[in-house]
Amino acid sequence: MKIYKAYIFRMYPNDYQKEIINKSFGISRFIYNHFLEEKIKEYKNTKKSKSAYEQIKEIPSLNIEYPFLKEVDSCLLRCSIFDLDNAYNRFFKSNFGYPKFKKKGVHDSYKTNNIISTYKGKEYNSIRLDLKNRLITLPKLKELKIRGYRNKIINGKIKSAVIRRESTKYYVSVLVEENIVVPIIKPKNIIGIDLGIKDVIITSYNEKIENKFKKETLNKRLKGLQKGLSRCIPGSKNRYRLKLKIQRLYMKLKNIRKYLIHDITNKLVNENDIIVTEDLDIKNMKSNKHIARPLTDIPLSEIIRILKYKGIWRGKKIYQINRYFPSSQICSICGYKNQKIKDLSIRKWECPKCHSNHDRDYNASYNIMFEGLKIYMKGLV
Ligand SMILES: [Zn+2]
Repeated sequence: MKIYKAYIFRMYPNDYQKEIINKSFGISRFIYNHFLEEKIKEYKNTKKSKSAYEQIKEIPSLNIEYPFLKEVDSCLLRCSIFDLDNAYNRFFKSNFGYPKFKKKGVHDSYKTNNIISTYKGKEYNSIRLDLKNRLITLPKLKELKIRGYRNKIINGKIKSAVIRRESTKYYVSVLVEENIVVPIIKPKNIIGIDLGIKDVIITSYNEKIENKFKKETLNKRLKGLQKGLSRCIPGSKNRYRLKLKIQRLYMKLKNIRKYLIHDITNKLVNENDIIVTEDLDIKNMKSNKHIARPLTDIPLSEIIRILKYKGIWRGKKIYQINRYFPSSQICSICGYKNQKIKDLSIRKWECPKCHSNHDRDYNASYNIMFEGLKIYMKGLV
């Protein structure tokens, strides 16, 4: 099975390399904004806009108009156009209007593809990793020192790299195509998972994983810093210092979040052979204000996405049941459907038919587990 894995390294460019990287950020942003403006103008006039391939054809004339474009890796110009195309199509489908223009200092990054060429029977890659000597080779930058994945052997084809800066640190994320052998597993156990807000995960093994994603103290500090920033004089040293502090805090929150997601999903995939969850209504969630604040939000869709790929790679069965399935209303003992439980404030209830006592969330997770079992059994017939 072919999979794509991203390896993220801290990168230590020298001053000259930093200069090129920062220039590349600027040019990537310039291309993105230039073609976004073109797309918007065109759409307003003709209700249509050019595809990425059509826009790429404009690069040579743009190179003449803006000679500085030739100072960086030419691949990043194309990548930036494709990046814009993806963002544009995504926004268009979701009826959110147009994507935003990129601003300097906000998510500074650029992408480049690995170009493979052969010369005299020898293969050359524009992006190369040397983990033993902790080096990466990137177009226009040559060799850079990296850190990370010390004892790892990466066997696969490098597809692309994204170079980014977070506060004063530089990172490179290398996308690798790998071939893995998925083990064939005869399932021995099954788990049903109900997803919630107060507890993020409620399992059919009567476990509740509470919401640790809200880092109140860090969020409070962030708000305080942002207030301070608004009081600073634009362009002052103080403002710059505060900005760096805010970026660092953002990074810290992001890392905590990432760690928690991997911790939860690793545990679930390690301990269970069949994992059943609900299919979340992503569209509905997007209009939810929680999603607009990704740092305080509980990343449910991210948990499911990671759970899915980790499970599939390990030969586990991952099922998602229909979101209209009334998992909270059904009595998991006798199957009676209790309409009253629609009310979210009811946490505990007694089944009017068989008089079993239920905890709302555990009962839902049992029902989800049974639904998953049905799907599995159907597959066996
Ligand atoms: Zn019952």
